Amino acid sequence: SNFVVGVTGGIGSGKTTVTDAFARLGIEVIDADVIAREVVAPGSEALDAIAAHFGEQALTAAGELNRAWLRQQVFANDGHKQWLNQLLHPRIRDSIVTQLGAAQSPYAILSAPLLLENKLTYLTQRVLVIDVSEDTQLARTMARDSNDEAQVRAIMQAQMPRSERVAQADDVLNNDGSLQDVYDQVARLHSQYLQLAQDE
Ligand code: ATP
Repeated sequence: SNFVVGVTGGIGSGKTTVTDAFARLGIEVIDADVIAREVVAPGSEALDAIAAHFGEQALTAAGELNRAWLRQQVFANDGHKQWLNQLLHPRIRDSIVTQLGAAQSPYAILSAPLLLENKLTYLTQRVLVIDVSEDTQLARTMARDSNDEAQVRAIMQAQMPRSERVAQADDVLNNDGSLQDVYDQVARLHSQYLQLAQDE
């Protein structure tokens, strides 16, 4: 099937928790974050291009991308940012398309924190937004990452507002409850998606 469900949500909303539950039901999950790392792995064409453009400072001693350093360069310079996006975005998109095309499950999931911001929804037939209250989001992210409240709030502020994200959803999974609540909602969505994929 070519039916693709895009899954997105803010920091600590539960993307991994939810997509792991779909994976346990036999659904293949393609993670845009994983692909974004793969395209700049040591030996990749993109990493060589970055080293040629920015110099060897862009690499760690181990020959991996020096993310912290590159983030600073890009943060300070729009031209660098555009250059990097033009290099990486087509490669990330091509790899997403290839991996979705190779998926064997009745439908596939594309998990992407920036699914809406980066307009990746054209690759999907359905958008599932994971929605949580800001209090839950804050508490769970702080517990997981041992970041302080100000840091987590700053990240939340920089992300798409909750209402805007939900407005673009076909389906909303509320993750303010227990893990069992998540699994129940995933089971319901799964049978709905099986049907939709079959009807395609
Ligand atoms: P990020 O984008 O920041 O990596 P995420 O959207 O993938 O986060 P998760 O890592 O799945 O979110 O969830 C954030 C944290 O909250 C994790 O520690 C996870 O175990 C926990 N969590 C998620 N859902 C629940 C729940 N319903 N009950 C209790 N804990 C939960």
